[in-house]
Amino acid sequence: MQGLMMDQPLLVKSIVEFADRVNPDVEIVSFTADNPRHRYTYKDAFKRARQLANVFAGWGLERGDRIATLAWNDYRHFEAYYGISCSGFVAHTINPRLFPEQVAYIINHAEDQYVFVDPMFMPIVEGVAGHCPGVRGWVVLTSAEHMPETSLDNVHCYETLLEGESTEFDWPELDERDACALCYTSGTTGNPKGVLYSHRSTLLHAFASVWPDVMGLSSSETVLPIVPMFHVNAWGTPYACPMVGAKLVFPGPKMGDGAELTKLINEEKITMSAGVPTVWLNLLAHLRESGETIESLKRIIVGGAACPLSVMEEFDSHGVETRVGWGMTEMSPLGSVNAPTPEVAEMSGEDWDKQRLKAGRPVFGVEMKITDDEGKELPWDGEAFGSLKVRGPWICSGYFKLDAGDAHADEGWFETGDVATIDPHGYMAITDRTKDVIKSGGEWISSIDVENAAVGHPKVAEAAVIGRYHPKWSERPLLVVVRDKGGEDLTPEEILGFLEGKIAKWWIPDAVEFVDELPHGATGKIQKVELREVFKDFAFPEE
Ligand code: AMP
Repeated sequence: MQGLMMDQPLLVKSIVEFADRVNPDVEIVSFTADNPRHRYTYKDAFKRARQLANVFAGWGLERGDRIATLAWNDYRHFEAYYGISCSGFVAHTINPRLFPEQVAYIINHAEDQYVFVDPMFMPIVEGVAGHCPGVRGWVVLTSAEHMPETSLDNVHCYETLLEGESTEFDWPELDERDACALCYTSGTTGNPKGVLYSHRSTLLHAFASVWPDVMGLSSSETVLPIVPMFHVNAWGTPYACPMVGAKLVFPGPKMGDGAELTKLINEEKITMSAGVPTVWLNLLAHLRESGETIESLKRIIVGGAACPLSVMEEFDSHGVETRVGWGMTEMSPLGSVNAPTPEVAEMSGEDWDKQRLKAGRPVFGVEMKITDDEGKELPWDGEAFGSLKVRGPWICSGYFKLDAGDAHADEGWFETGDVATIDPHGYMAITDRTKDVIKSGGEWISSIDVENAAVGHPKVAEAAVIGRYHPKWSERPLLVVVRDKGGEDLTPEEILGFLEGKIAKWWIPDAVEFVDELPHGATGKIQKVELREVFKDFAFPEE
């Protein structure tokens, strides 16, 4: 017997309709190149999204066509998200930090019809336009007076396009399984792969992200998404915030600028923010140097890479709770969040430090398991390391225009490519990427734990651990360090001595190399493939 409930599809347009009625006057504040403090409301934003839909209606597009954005986090990008998806097209966010060849590759692979570009990224599109014959037009996200000079054909000004368009539009009735957004992974090898989100997956993910033990969003919060809208939809915050009526503050091109972020936090009374570890390092360095404070900020979500304990401790001193989150582009991205359960909250000292560094408990909706090399499930004992597999309604079932491939080899499960442990409290900890694991004498060493410990040294700015050939142990860890300002006198002995007692004795690297900088990819992650290439001829000193 079936239930007697309405079969209402889960569509992105329902966020617009809801926020328009329930949260119309909640503010969206943005930093943009043409206005350091643009402010308006959800009601204003969605009016303009409908004007944009009217523009699309005159372009002869077909349902499901891809429209790309190459833009910072700001209000125009937010309007494009909704205008594109709710019209039945697919918002394809492009990471401007990709190599130009990769940008051209994904525009062509996605068959983007139009590309919406921040004026700052015009040099990128001028470089790739000649290789993207399928693009019908380039829309510059600015006003007529700020339009940049360009040699490109088919260029439109965003504000001029909207001018005179009606603010009324009847959104089409879509299928909840229709695609609404597309984001390519920035794989370290091979071409980027497209992850195609549906209206349904986006809505379910947004519902889950607001829960207290996840992001804890509500109408009392003011949210600063520092994680880019071109990297897994700013972790879903542009959908979740209008759902609950949280004020949104967009940092535009200032996401890496500690001084500007401090100003935004204090002036806009930000209560919650989200971003990768690197941005927090910039913010904390500014606070240290200026002596400024961030009184309104209560909580940050750190994800995308492991968060060093030193970052958490420094945030503690500012009265800010740090929550580690783990996820992937393929997972929309939320997989787990580290919010303390009552029993974990009672921990103290080293136990607490260890626990808070973990990637956290699965969010309801995401099933997890760890398996050994034969695919056998491993226990949640906090000891066993295994490949982490996940399934759920916001996890990709395949890549856009590609056969499912290796990532879905275990029927019904997505292979994350991460190696993890899960403890009896349900807290998962990432120990490595599968391809980065170091196997010494047949036993795994967690490069992430070693790196975390190393960056706790005050003279270390950044650290990476890679496995290198060893005649006796087959592989041993090599620690590569970028010294911090004022740390020029840091020696290998000092840093290795510092690690003693912080990690297992046999995890302590056999050698330390100092470099001026580490190679980073488009989302700010350390490129270990490249680093292994740099040290391919490295040999450990004879014992
Ligand atoms: P992306 O798809 O670019 O967001 O990258 C996803 C990958 O980032 C994951 O598979 C992990 O390897 C890594 N990652 C994300 N969050 C964390 C975390 N909290 N700790 C360690 N690694 C993380």
